[in-house]
Amino acid sequence: MRVFKFGGASVKDADAIKKVAAIIKSHEGQSLLVVISAMGKTTNALENLIKLHDAGRSHSQDLENLIGYHTAIVRDLFDNPHPLIRELDEVKIQIEIALNMVPSNSDLIYDQVVSLGEILSTKIVSAYFNEIGISTLWADARKLILTDDCYREAKIDWGKSNEQINALAEIINEKIVVTQGFIGSEKNGYSTTLGREGSDFSAAIFASCLNAESVTIWKDVPGVMSADPKRLPTATVFDELPFKEAAEMTYYGASVIHPKTIKPLANKGIPLFVKNFDNVRLPGTLIHECKVDKLPPLIVFKDQQCLVSCQVTDYTFIEESQIGIIFNALSSRGLKVNLMQNSAISFSFCLDFKEEKIMSLIQELGKDFEVYYNTGLTLITIKNYDEESFEKYRKQKDVVLEQSSRSTLQVLIRSQQSL
Ligand code: ASP
Ligand code: MG
Repeated sequence: MRVFKFGGASVKDADAIKKVAAIIKSHEGQSLLVVISAMGKTTNALENLIKLHDAGRSHSQDLENLIGYHTAIVRDLFDNPHPLIRELDEVKIQIEIALNMVPSNSDLIYDQVVSLGEILSTKIVSAYFNEIGISTLWADARKLILTDDCYREAKIDWGKSNEQINALAEIINEKIVVTQGFIGSEKNGYSTTLGREGSDFSAAIFASCLNAESVTIWKDVPGVMSADPKRLPTATVFDELPFKEAAEMTYYGASVIHPKTIKPLANKGIPLFVKNFDNVRLPGTLIHECKVDKLPPLIVFKDQQCLVSCQVTDYTFIEESQIGIIFNALSSRGLKVNLMQNSAISFSFCLDFKEEKIMSLIQELGKDFEVYYNTGLTLITIKNYDEESFEKYRKQKDVVLEQSSRSTLQVLIRSQQSL
């Protein structure tokens, strides 16, 4: 059996959903589990409802618009008014209930609200598949992927998930199973989410538990590219990539695949195809266990970076105990360092600019250090650099920090530069 994953852009309107259905039809007779994200920008819209609600502002028009967006898609897909419209109304009520939960834990509320985007999309897509003669079962991922209660970034209980998911194995041979990406549930039955853009990871979890033959992530790009083509039009598509290389690129910020996706697949040797949803004939990229002799330089841009420098104030040098203070302060806030460097009297690190957390970090570190910070930076990582790319990226104006190893060059620059 195989696992397919379609992201929000592939189900953003009726035409896109018809394309998804055509892809599934062309695989008729094969065992498939299909993982689907929320439609278009639904997850952002749900996040926005929470923000409005928290700010004590009315969210009813925005909720109306969101349900209206889904209703319009249902009307485009189905000739007759369909019981689905009623189901959409039910989800609308569930969103209201979740928004109005007693605010004991805002992350718990977030997961109850945001997880419903995937419920809306999969209800519509699976009903449409059935309507056009693809025999489909809608499966609730909240009953299949079991997690801890670390809301917004839940950790998988692999043992329990494996048991639940394997109960599906027989059905997959008879019907196409459509389920949600990104969501699961914890032991008290509350929904959890696996982190933004986490549907790729869900696909990998299902594939690993079912020992799938392969996973295919269908995207709006022709495959994994050597850089974001919107920034570097000369970017090329990789035909194949070793798992290790793909995992590292996601670590540096390449957004083509969610960073947690590769590990479960690599552990079981399950190949991952990244294919173009608009042009199924394109070969795409195959990520698997392989050795590629010479990979072209891979360039990853990560915007909205912040550089924090901690200087010792009393003529001592930076030493382990001080680095310990810095890392404890980072880890207690769940902040991840993207680049670090030290000199005799200062320790600098670059991280994603999460304003609230970083301000509280700076305040705490201010007790032990003199702290400076810059925002509005872009971290450029060039993996497998060659002479040309090494020179080009080092010789830019406004380089704030630079670091290189034998295979990887990283430069932190002020963002306004055009590249
Ligand atoms: N719908 C979720 C998000 O937008 C998960 C995903 O698309 O992978 O983050
Ligand atoms: Mg998405």
